[in-house]
Amino acid sequence: MKINKRRLQEHFEIISEYGKIGETGLCRPALSEIEKETFQLVSKWMQEAGMTVRIDNAGNLIGRLEGENPDAPILMIGSHLDSQPYGGRFDGTSGVLAGVEVAMTMKEQNVVPASPIEVVSFCDEESWRFKKGVFGSRAMVGQIDPEELERKDKDGISRKQALLDFGCNPDKLDEVVYPDGAIGAFLEMHIEQGPSLEAQNKPVGIVSAIAGPMWLTVTLKGFAGHAGSVPMDMRQDALLGASRMIDEINQIVRHDPHTPTVATVGSLQVFPDSPNIIPEKVAFSIDLRDIDLKRRNNIEEQIRSMIHQVSKDCHLTYHIQKDTNLDPVSCAEWIQNIMVDESEKKGWKSPTMVSGPFHDAVVMANTCDIGMIFVRCKDGISHNPAEFASYEDLAQGTELLYHTAISVSAKINEQVISKTLTSR
Ligand SMILES: [Zn+2]
Repeated sequence: MKINKRRLQEHFEIISEYGKIGETGLCRPALSEIEKETFQLVSKWMQEAGMTVRIDNAGNLIGRLEGENPDAPILMIGSHLDSQPYGGRFDGTSGVLAGVEVAMTMKEQNVVPASPIEVVSFCDEESWRFKKGVFGSRAMVGQIDPEELERKDKDGISRKQALLDFGCNPDKLDEVVYPDGAIGAFLEMHIEQGPSLEAQNKPVGIVSAIAGPMWLTVTLKGFAGHAGSVPMDMRQDALLGASRMIDEINQIVRHDPHTPTVATVGSLQVFPDSPNIIPEKVAFSIDLRDIDLKRRNNIEEQIRSMIHQVSKDCHLTYHIQKDTNLDPVSCAEWIQNIMVDESEKKGWKSPTMVSGPFHDAVVMANTCDIGMIFVRCKDGISHNPAEFASYEDLAQGTELLYHTAISVSAKINEQVISKTLTSR
């Protein structure tokens, strides 16, 4: 291997102390004091790798390595250093440390990339603090709504205040935006957060597409009544309707077992929530994901007409609200091909796979071609202190990222050269 596996492990061991909870857990909120300290630590490593470092006004940490052609578009490599409140050590951090290791290895091997490389830790990927995530990457592509700055965390601190406390100027978010064409490609290494690689006994996977999540909130209204006196056939039981719907949603999505479509009802509120009152009002969430937008839309239609039918059968009224709606994104074919080639050169045969979870890469796809590498994680567990990926697997993912970065950077530069030639 070209990368230094031992150094990567050391960096992991050091950084895991920043925000550590219990033996293996992590709590590193976005824009917190502990994240700032973690940024300082990673800045030091970035500087050792020969990078110039800055924190932009959206709270993104950015290390820049100059390339042979300073005018070529940037190859950006990144992920996030913030974590879930009761999270693990590897989600996000893996991708940032892998990016730093790529830069360090380039320096050691005297490899000057063809285009500039920027390694980024994006601000607030995880979303729980202000209930809206991928903030830093959205800021880079100019997708921040000014209203978002007023969102408050559970302690009443607004996003705006948190940015100010972090040393950022939230009035100058427009300076964070990269102009069209400035970023040539984006690469992210991340733990899989699912069980597929483990099941295939493969340390590393190449992502072909990332599912787009769509969230609905369904509110059902019936009529409350005494649990002892209202006969069964005269009831308008909102929870009975909801439970039938939840089961139906599961069946609709499972209808074709060969598709990666998934749907989850993970939140349920019952009113008045009393053992001896027939439930009058129920609200529940639906999280629906697919890599094929047409198929996802089709399933959404089926779910909507099922809700209509069950409401009628149970004598309920219903309301459906759409909360989140993001399109699925494909990883660029040419980047996938580079990853497959580089992986084969090493004799690894890394499988191609889709991502159910959402990542900063999805946002970056608004401005450039993207590629993602997945690293096997134990039992598919993530967002949990039990989250685990082995240092061997992380090193293999990082090695693939290193070779991919060199090739992608060269390709970005070639495209610029051929463009200049044709315009002459
Ligand atoms: Zn993550």
